[in-house]
Amino acid sequence: MTAVSEEIVDVSIPVLVDPDTGERYLGDKERLIFCVDTADIRALDDRQDSTPINMDRDLSSDGELLTYYLFIQVYDYFAEKGWWGPDGQRTPCMLQFDISGENRGNASYGEFQDGFHIFSFSIDDGAGQSLQVIAHEFTHGVSSTNHIGQYENETGALDEALSDLIGNTVEADIRQWSPSENPWLNGFRRAHKYQHALYAWDEFYTPFTDHPDDWNDEGNVHDNSHLISILAWRMYEIGMTPRDVFDFWFTFDLTLTPKTDFAETAMKAAWCAEIAGLSEYAPAIQQAVEDLKLDDNSLPEYLKDHQGMIVYENPLDEVNVKAGFFDPLHDEEFATWPAAGTNKVAAVFGEGTCWVVFVQTSEEDNLVVWNSAEKTWESADPERLTEIVENCDSDYYIEIFSGGTITELGE
Ligand SMILES: [Zn+2]
Repeated sequence: MTAVSEEIVDVSIPVLVDPDTGERYLGDKERLIFCVDTADIRALDDRQDSTPINMDRDLSSDGELLTYYLFIQVYDYFAEKGWWGPDGQRTPCMLQFDISGENRGNASYGEFQDGFHIFSFSIDDGAGQSLQVIAHEFTHGVSSTNHIGQYENETGALDEALSDLIGNTVEADIRQWSPSENPWLNGFRRAHKYQHALYAWDEFYTPFTDHPDDWNDEGNVHDNSHLISILAWRMYEIGMTPRDVFDFWFTFDLTLTPKTDFAETAMKAAWCAEIAGLSEYAPAIQQAVEDLKLDDNSLPEYLKDHQGMIVYENPLDEVNVKAGFFDPLHDEEFATWPAAGTNKVAAVFGEGTCWVVFVQTSEEDNLVVWNSAEKTWESADPERLTEIVENCDSDYYIEIFSGGTITELGE
C-alpha cells in the first residue's frame, strides 16, 4: 500500500477470524494486539462507541492496516530482546483509531486501563505511519512500567526524551539509517532554528516551574526533553550504532525511579554505559552529560560572547505567569516563566535579536508589556500587543546589542 509519505510498503499482518462467520478482524492472538475504531480518541473512559475492525466491512482506509503493521514491527523489535509488549509481560495492547477525523496528527499512549495498554492514532497522517512515533508511544509504556516520575518538569522531560531517543533508535536500526540520514538527529544540527536549547541556560532554555500545568506543557516537557535527547547526537558522533544507543537508553530506563531527574541522569550515565556493556564509551558519555550542565540550573554567571540575557522580576501579583518574548523582525515567539523557587524571569537570546517583552496570566486578556523608552511595564491587552508588534513600535524593543550583555528590566 502507499503511505502518506508516498512510500510503497508491503504489508502482511495477522488477523483474527470469527470461527462462526469466517469474518476477519484486525488483531493478533499471539501478541495480543487488538484494533478498534472509536469516535473520540480522547474519551478513554467512554469506549462504548469503540468497535472491533472487521476487515471486510469496516476498514476506513489503508491507514489502519499500516499503523497496525508498523506497531507489530516495533513490538517485535523489543520482543526479540526478550521484552514483550510495553510492560515486558505480554499484557494486551489496544490500538484505537480515530475515525472522526478531528484529531489529525495525533498519536498517544493512554496508559494502562481495563487490562490493556491503550494507544491512540489518527489515521492517514504521518503520526500513525512513522515507526519512530509508534516506538515513541510504545516506550512511554516501557518507562511507566519502569517507574518514570510524574509527567511534569524534569521527570516529564525525561519521559519524553526516553521516548524520543529509544523511538528514534528503533526506526534507525530497522531502516539501517546512517546518522546523516537520520532526520530527527539532523534537526539538532540547527537546534536554535527549532528553538532547542543545547545546554541549561542556552538560548531557548526554559527553567523548571513551580506551576506545571496544561498551559506550560507541564513545565515544557516536550522542549526540555531535548536537553537529554541531544545526547543521541553526541553518541552517534563517538561511533555508537543505533543498537548501542538503544541498549544504553533501555538500560537507563531500567534504572529509573520516580525521582530520577536530570542531575541523577548525569550521575548515572557512565554507570549505565558500564552495565550495558558499552564501557568504552563511558568517558565520552560522561563528558557529554557534563557539557549539558544538567546538575546546576541556577542563572548563568557568564554568557557566550554571541549571546545576551534579559532578566526581570515578575511584574504581576500572580505567581503562575507566562513570560512572552516576541521578535517582530523575525516573526519569532518564545515563552518562558519564573524559575522554580524564584519570582525571576530570565531568557538568553542570540546577539542582534530584538524582543518585545510581555507577561500574562492564564486569563490572557490581562497582560503587561515592557515599554523600553519609558522604562516601565505598561498594562495592555492582546489587541494592544498586536498593535505594538504590527506597527514595529521600536519604543517597545529590547535589542541584544552585543554578546555577554545582561539587560535587567525594572521600574
Ligand atoms: Zn511522548
